[in-house]
Amino acid sequence: MIGILGGTFDPIHFGHLRPALEIQECLDLDELRFIPCGLPPHRRRPEADMSHRLAMVEQAVALHPGFSVDRRELERAGPSYSVDTLESLRRELGSRVPLCLLLGMDAFAGLSSWHRWQELFGLAHIVVAHRPGSDEPRALEAWAASRRAADPAELRAAPAGRILCMPVTQLDISATTIRGLVARGRSPRFLLPEPVLEYIHRHGLYQEHAAATGSPC
Ligand code: ATP
Repeated sequence: MIGILGGTFDPIHFGHLRPALEIQECLDLDELRFIPCGLPPHRRRPEADMSHRLAMVEQAVALHPGFSVDRRELERAGPSYSVDTLESLRRELGSRVPLCLLLGMDAFAGLSSWHRWQELFGLAHIVVAHRPGSDEPRALEAWAASRRAADPAELRAAPAGRILCMPVTQLDISATTIRGLVARGRSPRFLLPEPVLEYIHRHGLYQEHAAATGSPC
């Protein structure tokens, strides 16, 4: 069974990595692929260039066997729609391998605005990680009920179509916070892997938005 975690990773941090590891172990995933998006359809452009975001993800995934990076969204022109990514993965992996799309609860809450979102369930399972500040969305409740899986074994039994919500260690970390800290000259150390922090400093990333944060600290 293969897991995928998409994101802007601007930059990647422990709020991505720790839940990903816990889900990988709990589901006994053979592989967990991090897929940095090229052009996010639902938000403004990332601050760091895609080459930097990719390099930071590469540094982070090198810290754990079983994690890998998949570049397909960076190599594709136009908005990075998950449904296109899953279709392309399916072409490679075939129709029978169970595939799990990992999402934080905030991302799951916005699912019904995604491009061709209902087709996602024909392509993958969805595994939702609880995230501080995000409750299960009411709008998707009824719709999700019939697809709800009670345990990981149900995901293994089919290639796609189920939803599993997973409690994970709650880390109130966001890339936005990290960018804000760097911009104000504060340290984001211990919120993200040290090699990623060193990369940010080496390349002078995220220096420009000091005025935008408005925090006194
Ligand atoms: P930003 O602050 O720039 O919006 P982010 O920290 O939310 O970024 P993304 O790259 O947008 O990170 O997130 C990719 C995926 O990881 C999403 O599914 C998101 O819900 C999930 N995620 C991010 N941070 C956490 C966290 N602290 N706990 C659980 N899931 C998270």
